[in-house]
Amino acid sequence: MTRRVALLGKPLRRRHSQVMHDAAFAAAGLDARYELLELDPEAVPGVVAAAHGPAWLGLQVTAPYKRLVAGLCDRVDTDAATIGAVNSVVRTAAAELVGFNTDAPGFRAAVEAALGRPLAGATVVVAGAGGAAHAVAFACLDGGAARVTIGNRTLAAGEALAQRFARTGSGAVTAVELGGAAFADALGTADLAVNATTVGMLEPGAAIDVTRLPATATVFDLVYLPPETPLLQAARGRGLRAANGSEMLIQQAAIAFERWTGLGGMAEVMRAAVAPLLADAAVPA
Ligand code: NAP
Repeated sequence: MTRRVALLGKPLRRRHSQVMHDAAFAAAGLDARYELLELDPEAVPGVVAAAHGPAWLGLQVTAPYKRLVAGLCDRVDTDAATIGAVNSVVRTAAAELVGFNTDAPGFRAAVEAALGRPLAGATVVVAGAGGAAHAVAFACLDGGAARVTIGNRTLAAGEALAQRFARTGSGAVTAVELGGAAFADALGTADLAVNATTVGMLEPGAAIDVTRLPATATVFDLVYLPPETPLLQAARGRGLRAANGSEMLIQQAAIAFERWTGLGGMAEVMRAAVAPLLADAAVPA
């Protein structure tokens, strides 16, 4: 029986996840495939119900179905419930569908590699308060960051995020207006500045002014297409450590793969498989 995983979303223009997981299935000698299912909303419940069947290892979920699929799972694990987003689902041996989140641990692994040290004790500034920023803020606070400042264009969304994570970890979390004076002040003492907005991918420009950062700061941009955003160019121009979101993408895929198959250590296979797609500077609309 060929085992199945499917990515549910609409539209689905990127093949990165499929390429990484199919390479890992092949390397592990597993008869399994990763499908892209671009679905209308009314088709989603039927596909999720079918994923209780024995052929299925699990699902991945992207916009706009993360909330819908979370509600269709039999259970959602504690971290994903705290973050408020399910982007992966595993079918257990008892045929239960359990929702989980791979963005938070994927970000943590990738950013700690970029920082060259654990997040514990770090002062972090995050631009953005959307789905990805939720995973980033959780990972930082859960990882022991001392302070997380959220800067968002829509202040109310940043404040809601800060409130959600007020009791995660022991660090302080506050929200300010993106680009305002308090945001600039926070950048002045940051160990790590993270772009979790779509600026640099969908919109030109940069959400973070790197001239405000100390010379010791690391800049992490979740955007991976284009591979070198204006933010990363500016950070490297200042001689700061800088990384894009490609390693987060790879790490989160390896985490999902391990949850589905019990097989770890697939990041290297996935990194090699996805490299040609990541080198392509063309951004699908
Ligand atoms: P989202 O939920 O739609 O959130 C978008 C965020 O960007 C919001 O905070 C929004 O602010 C802000 N924003 C949008 N346009 C802006 C502008 N012109 N100026 C300032 N802020 C603006 O998106 P998401 O799912 O969090 O994704 C965010 C980014 O992370 C995307 O580029 C995505 O590709 C990337 N990502 C990467 C990975 C990875 O593995 N590397 C994983 C997940 C996401 P408002 O609240 O004011 O609208």
